[in-house]
Order: sequence, then C-alpha cells, then structure tokens
Amino acid sequence: MPSKASPFANSIDSVEIYLDHAASTPMNPVALSAQIEASALTGNPSGTHKAARAAKNLLESCREEVAGYLGVGVSEVVFTSGGTEADNLAILGSLSKGRIALSTAIEHHAVIESVKESGGVLIGATFEGVVDLNEMESYLKDNGGNVGVVSVMMANNETGVVQPLAEVLKLVKRYAPDALLHSDAVQAPAYLDVAGLGKGFDMISISGHKFGGPKGTGALAVKKSSPLRAILHGGGQERELRSGTPNLAGIAAMTVAMREAVTGRDENVGRIAGLTRRLRGGLAAMLPAIEPNGVGGPQMCNITNYCFAGLNSEEILFMLDSANVYASAGSSCASGALNPSHVLLGMGRSRSEALGSLRLSLGVTTTVEEVEHAVDVVGNVILDLAKKKRASWI
Ligand code: PLP
Repeated sequence: MPSKASPFANSIDSVEIYLDHAASTPMNPVALSAQIEASALTGNPSGTHKAARAAKNLLESCREEVAGYLGVGVSEVVFTSGGTEADNLAILGSLSKGRIALSTAIEHHAVIESVKESGGVLIGATFEGVVDLNEMESYLKDNGGNVGVVSVMMANNETGVVQPLAEVLKLVKRYAPDALLHSDAVQAPAYLDVAGLGKGFDMISISGHKFGGPKGTGALAVKKSSPLRAILHGGGQERELRSGTPNLAGIAAMTVAMREAVTGRDENVGRIAGLTRRLRGGLAAMLPAIEPNGVGGPQMCNITNYCFAGLNSEEILFMLDSANVYASAGSSCASGALNPSHVLLGMGRSRSEALGSLRLSLGVTTTVEEVEHAVDVVGNVILDLAKKKRASWI
C-alpha cells in the first residue's frame, strides 16, 4: 500500500497516488502560509498611502527574489496570470509588422497558437524529442531577417526532453541577430538551472503551479532592451507591459515556492531521479518491449512518457483513475474525438502510437511506496488492455 509519508499536506487521500506533477503540483505548505499572510494586505500596490506601500513593498521584494532565480535584473520581471499569458505576451508582444515568430512543433499550445496567429513557422523535432537544429539553421539562413522572435522551450512538458538552448542561441545570434529570443521554462525551475537562461535569452516564462506555487500565477522575464508591446491594456502596471492589479498573494506564494524549489533542487533531483529509475525499471520488467519516449537525449528527472500502440490513452487513464493512480496523456479530447499529441506526432510517432500515450510525472511529494504501487497498477492495466486488444508488442 502507498504510504502517507508525503512532506506536504494536500488534498490527495492516502490511497491515491498522484503522478501528474507536470500538470500541476501540490502547494508547498510554506508557500501556502505566505499566500494566506499576503491575502491579509488590503492596499493596492499602485496606491500612495501606507497600506498601498506595504503591498508595494511586498510586491517589489518578490520581484527582486524572482529576478535572482531567473538571472535577470530586478525591473525585468513582469508578473502574469501564469505560463499561458507569459508565452502569449512574449510572442504576440514582440512582433512588429512583417516579421514572424519562429518556434518548434513540440511547444506547449500557449506558444504554438500564438505563433500560428502571427503566421509563424514551426521547426520539427527529432525522434528523441529534440528540436531539429539543422532544419532551424537552414530556415534562419534563408529567412533570418524576417524573424521577429524565436521561441524554444527549456524542457518539454510531455516527454521531459531538455532542449539545446545554447545551440539555439548561437544560431539566432548568427542568422537573426535582431530577433528576440524567448524560452518557455514553465516545466524547469524545480529541476534545471533557469538562472543561466537570463544570460542569453531576452524573455523567459515561468508558472507558479509547476513548482509548488498556486495556479494562476506566473511571470515573464523581459530584458529592458526588448521592444515588447503589451497585450493587456489598462492601468499600465508592470512597466506598462501587463495592466491589471497584480495577484499579490499569489505572487508572494509563487516566490516562496520558487525559493523552496531552487534551494531544494539538487537534493530533490537526486531523489526523484532514483524514483524514476525505479518506475521505469519496474515497468520494463513487466513490459519488456516498452521504452520511454525521448530517451537518448537529455531528460528532466521527473517525466516518463510511453506510447502503447493500439491502446487508447483515455481507456488507460480511466482504468488508472479507477485504481486511484492519477496520470495523464498528451492526447486531448476535442468534440468527442481523441486527438493524438502534437508533441509525439512531431517526434515522428505514428497516430496509433500517439493515441496510446501515457505520461507519469513525479514530484517532490512522491514516495518509494507510491512508485512501487504505481508500477504494479500501471503494469497490470497495460498488460490487461494489451491482451484484450491483441497488441503485437506484448
Ligand atoms: N508551457 C508549458 C511547457 C506548460 O507545461 C504549461 C502548462 O502545462 C504552460 C506553458 C501553461 O502554463 P499555465 O498553466 O500556467 O497557463
């Protein structure tokens, strides 16, 4: 049986196993306390009286701390309502007439849809889930002058594959030196050093609920030299880049969550990598033919993604849910029809493989007992379904 040894108090019952940390993480209790405390502040940070100044002081101390974690200047952090808004602002806000956005086919929809809106271009990925640098180079060589912004994620949310950002930076500096460079680092802060990004990238997106902060919080780091235009208009808050009264309590909680994630990162990464090895090893012993997507390239330690050709993600997730194991798949359901994951298709997986995907993502609250129990449940669910569907790989 799974234990309740989790260091965080959360709403997940002791017999429930939460393996969906890439979708959202449990709130860190220290961050939750900070959120409650900050909620008691009445003032609007834009005001001038003492109550407003107290709110403003907290907001600015959060900005200073988050800037440090992102490796940018204090005034370069723009708080947003999450990763989606940060990505939209980065891409839609940096396009001037006649210039397009260049990104990859494996980005989150928040980037892909913004790129499409600008008539932009998506570069393909390799079978290992890495952006195809050759394709990017040949596109930039011929069209670098037309590109207004280049956006490449730090690590993929479905496969955990870490992208070669140093190489992307070199290509952009060489062929499109006027383009702004953005990275969606939403999945990264608990696992990778995001502070290094601030050195070469003009914009970085983060989202609080991916590292123990509240949902609906996030930030875009924007270099002062970047000619960005707002996509939300109003009172001119956040350097006029993001109008609207800031979600102060959420920002305070996100800041504390980021502090906890960054300071505990090395220890957590070591522990979670061990749990992921155990998960993969256990499943490989039950299902020798399977191999996680994205192996062969560098991967974050917490995400494992499989394709089970001939099976159906919805059915897998339903059976896991019935056994209180919570996971997800890249495929999504729109108007009653299951859509295969664009990330897996972008990596060259077949439609049948992509429709049978499963993502298991661990996090700081995951225990050994939970992983062992999950191996048993997931392994048996897949075996049952594969036999029923007479899958060729079983
Ligand atoms: N970018 C990536 C890579 C993500 O994984 C997500 C959320 O899953 C987002 C952007 C969107 O972030 P948010 O949920 O804060 O809007």
